[in-house]
Amino acid sequence: MKPLIVKLGGSVITDKRKPFTIKRSVIKRLARELKDVKGSLVIVHGGGSFGHPLALKYKIADGYHGKDQLMGVSLTHLAMEKLNKYLVEALQKEGIPAIAFQPSACVLSSNGRIKSMELRPLERVLALGLVPVLYGDVVFDVVKGISIVSGDQMVSYLARKLGASRVVFGVDVDGVFTSCPKKDSRAELLRVITPSDVGSLASVWEGESGDVTGGMRAKVQELLELAKFGIEAEIVNAARPNVLREALLGKRGLGTVVTRGK
Ligand code: ADP
Repeated sequence: MKPLIVKLGGSVITDKRKPFTIKRSVIKRLARELKDVKGSLVIVHGGGSFGHPLALKYKIADGYHGKDQLMGVSLTHLAMEKLNKYLVEALQKEGIPAIAFQPSACVLSSNGRIKSMELRPLERVLALGLVPVLYGDVVFDVVKGISIVSGDQMVSYLARKLGASRVVFGVDVDGVFTSCPKKDSRAELLRVITPSDVGSLASVWEGESGDVTGGMRAKVQELLELAKFGIEAEIVNAARPNVLREALLGKRGLGTVVTRGK
């Protein structure tokens, strides 16, 4: 059965302004919403205020430059494991048989892009009906030693390799806008984005600072790549109750659809 892949944004499940701060009630609500999904499900989450500050501090994404980064690798990974554990426990409380999957143990990257990933255990897990929970992580890189693979990249890779039925990205805004909706009150929601829109999107990203793995722009880039393979994705507001649930149950047009053709 083709899995549904859902990404829970770091901005949704953590408070990005406060280091190591979980949004407990939001995670509880999202676990309830995820419970309603029937069929094969893969969950991937971002780093938010857990992974990002440490990854930045130790310049993990720049590659290996010296021994002082090793503790940074250890700390960044542990921060992600802590967030992952919290999420897995919340899912278990709702009766979801969730199981943590550590990307750094099964991914090799090349210049920050996933080069290979051991997928066989993941496929077994899905066949059994368990729900794997992956995350953006520190990874070991054949070119630069160490790097970061974002949750967004992980989703796009897994969707292609596992042949996802659909991808849903839960973020803290209603979708992709003509400019950042948190900074520009006149920003308008884009309902559909296709690979042919790449040129016109350039102005959308002007001034986007993003975090260590790139913010909304990087998400759209990953999803446009996926769209070329015929896998449709939608970016929705998971901070609003029930939006993620409805998207996962098959409703379209709740946010921004990224697809091959209009
Ligand atoms: P997450 O951590 O949930 O994966 P990010 O924080 O990396 O997500 O990216 C989502 C954020 O991107 C939004 O909260 C918003 O502030 C910002 N953003 C920048 N430009 C845009 C845009 N054009 N449309 C929507 N959001 C944008």
